[in-house]
Amino acid sequence: MQAVVVDTFLQAIRDGKTPSREEALRLANARGDELEQLLETAAALRDRHKGRTITFSPKIFIPLTNLCRDFCGYCTFRKAPDEAGAKTMSIDEVLAVARRGKLLGCTEALFSLGDKPEAIYPEMKTFLAQFGLKRTLDYLYDACKTALEQIGILPHANPGIMGAGDLKRLKEVNPSMGLMLESTSSRLMLPGGAHDNAPDKKPSLRLRTIAEAGKVRIPFTTGILIGIGESWEDRIDSLFAIRELNERYGHIQEVIVQNFRPKAEIPMRDRPEPDRVDMLKTIALARLILGGAMNLQAPPNLTPEGYPMYLRAGINDWGGVSPLTPDFINPEAPWPALVELEKRTREAGYALRARLPIYPEFITNEFVPAGLRPHIEDLSGPDGLVQERIERRMLPRAGAESAVHS
Ligand code: SF4
Repeated sequence: MQAVVVDTFLQAIRDGKTPSREEALRLANARGDELEQLLETAAALRDRHKGRTITFSPKIFIPLTNLCRDFCGYCTFRKAPDEAGAKTMSIDEVLAVARRGKLLGCTEALFSLGDKPEAIYPEMKTFLAQFGLKRTLDYLYDACKTALEQIGILPHANPGIMGAGDLKRLKEVNPSMGLMLESTSSRLMLPGGAHDNAPDKKPSLRLRTIAEAGKVRIPFTTGILIGIGESWEDRIDSLFAIRELNERYGHIQEVIVQNFRPKAEIPMRDRPEPDRVDMLKTIALARLILGGAMNLQAPPNLTPEGYPMYLRAGINDWGGVSPLTPDFINPEAPWPALVELEKRTREAGYALRARLPIYPEFITNEFVPAGLRPHIEDLSGPDGLVQERIERRMLPRAGAESAVHS
């Protein structure tokens, strides 16, 4: 395809057209001037729909349990019960972190945990039995409900594959939930692949969970993980699959483009991480495929020196950033200080605002159960973002000196 053709279909995208799969694949080869045009188009699409505001969610990260029945090739989070660092948090421990986070201005409690550890570990069964429970998902429900009701922080749970019954129940205590699609590629499940011993990473199961969340009207976060052995075709197919689910159910509130990071302890330690151009192109293509209205996020802590460049590719959100707890999935990658994030965002020409784990456009009767409304109203302002009095606790206005960050 000639450069002039790229120019023509980027113009068509600026005018509101969605790229076809073939056009997206062609754009994946963009370099030089074409790459610049691709980035400019994605950024213009973001600016037209989102204006000059970039959001983040002030959160605490709650690793409810790091026991997991899967063995993903890139994971340092999971532990076996007899391994150093294996941990399931008590409800009191959850409340203690939530209380500290709330004081700092955090409005989200991200519950991240291993998938169905009770399926392979009798130790987890014993732990759950002391509360009369059989499944980690039931313990998660109790933890979310207690944090919501006792602390007034909003849970956002990511517990892996779920059926309609669990989604419905968890929706009562979670204004939004999430499950990374990661990739639609079944090839990753073959021997030697990133998911060859991870039954919960079967793409069809993940697509089904995301669809079920749509049916029960849960504002949902999903995304792709890049650099784990997928091809460009896989990445683009994954983005189109997310688009299709959102067209069907209208419940995808944000999409994350996350880059794989090699670590010394993982089986995939020798795999190269995606380079900056790879990330920029993937983000820009995600913006083009998912459209200007989608909330698009890339985590700043996984590209510590260069994250502001992602603003050039069309993101409008930095995701959850914590002034208190580490990223337990990538513990080697500290969050940027919020003052620094605000400064770098402002220097790029955008204003940083704190949001809730549910985006403003999803705060409707259709998506929010009546019991959650007062909790959301306690924390949100008229624009549906975090109330300014709370935001000021951790995010001083430009030029102010009194940052709260630990
Ligand atoms: S990435 Fe998630 S599902 Fe995979 S092993 Fe780690 S905790 Fe388990």
